Amino acid sequence: MGIAARYVWASLSLLAAACAGAPPPPAGIGVLSEARVNVAECRSASVSLHFDFDGAAPSACAVRGERAFELLVTPEHAPPINPSPWYAFRYSASGEGPVSVTLRYLESGHRYAPKLSAGGEWRDLPAEVSEDGKTARLELPPGAGMVAAQELVVPADTASALARWSKASGAPVFTLGTSHDGRPIEAIRLGRKDSPNLVILLGRQHPPEVTGAIAMEAFVDALAVRASSLGGVQVVVVPLLNPDGVVRGHWRANRGAVDLNRDWGEFTQPEARSVKAWLDALPAQVRPVLMVDFHSTARNLFYVQGNEASESQAQFLAAWLGGQEQAYPGYPFTLEPRNANPGSGTAKNWFHQTYAIPSYTYEVADTANRAATRAAAAALAARMLEALAAQGGKTPQ
Ligand SMILES: [Zn+2]
Repeated sequence: MGIAARYVWASLSLLAAACAGAPPPPAGIGVLSEARVNVAECRSASVSLHFDFDGAAPSACAVRGERAFELLVTPEHAPPINPSPWYAFRYSASGEGPVSVTLRYLESGHRYAPKLSAGGEWRDLPAEVSEDGKTARLELPPGAGMVAAQELVVPADTASALARWSKASGAPVFTLGTSHDGRPIEAIRLGRKDSPNLVILLGRQHPPEVTGAIAMEAFVDALAVRASSLGGVQVVVVPLLNPDGVVRGHWRANRGAVDLNRDWGEFTQPEARSVKAWLDALPAQVRPVLMVDFHSTARNLFYVQGNEASESQAQFLAAWLGGQEQAYPGYPFTLEPRNANPGSGTAKNWFHQTYAIPSYTYEVADTANRAATRAAAAALAARMLEALAAQGGKTPQ
């Protein structure tokens, strides 16, 4: 039997469904979950690979030999899709010698350097990448471990972070709404509910963008310990906007096959809509003054307003991020002014246009040094509060 024929093609049937324009299944367990069960395992006599945990993508898996496997890394819906080829699996290998796993990319090339967790910290796992980037071969040590495109940060980790912020600040975690699959879209408010100046922090619209999540966690840690001294500012944090995509190992989309960061304005999806509904219900004396949305890309940068920024918005940018580009060891960044592209559907664009406020995308490099990312985020959080205070309690419109 040929290699192709031995693949478990469950994930391709999903692609076919997406191509046909099939509407997403209603909330609850549906086609995707069954596919995950179908591809939950791939084994030889001495080695098994599993895809049965939050963050594992439903990769098609082929057995190439007793200790050799091949995974087809495919997106959750038909192209075009942002090339963020996520993969995650766990393995168990008895006997001697390494296990070879070849990642074969469909609709993308190799992007994420693999990480291995074998009963401890995540560490880089060398990969032999083909010249065209279409395959990457990994050698796994015998024993058991977990391999992923980036460190796994799944809803259980976000729940731990929310609990920590709640403990540090005394603020309760609350729910804005639910995802397609019925997972809660959770939030926490740091500061007083009646403080007039609202800062909104968004995270994880795009599932593979783990370094953005790492930065956000450190950023909010730094704010949570200052929650009692925020003055006229309240910070509402929505750390996990796309829980279904994270759990299902998506490259980009939510369960509705939509890029959530193109849904701000239309609000066709329950996840972004839950934030909009919450904003619409704010009391009149509270208004957004700043939005920051955490993501990952090739390098560290902030997308900020271009010449559309008002004078006070430009002053706020200068006070917060101006001159800081080289200030944090191991975390250099650039400021990238981008005028709103009308109808782009990004959170950055929508918040700027709707509330006339500074609205930034905080992009962390895929390969950013994790400790430096955390340190810079903590410092930038403190500096953000100083910059807001420097506006004299006025909203930076
Ligand atoms: Zn993103």
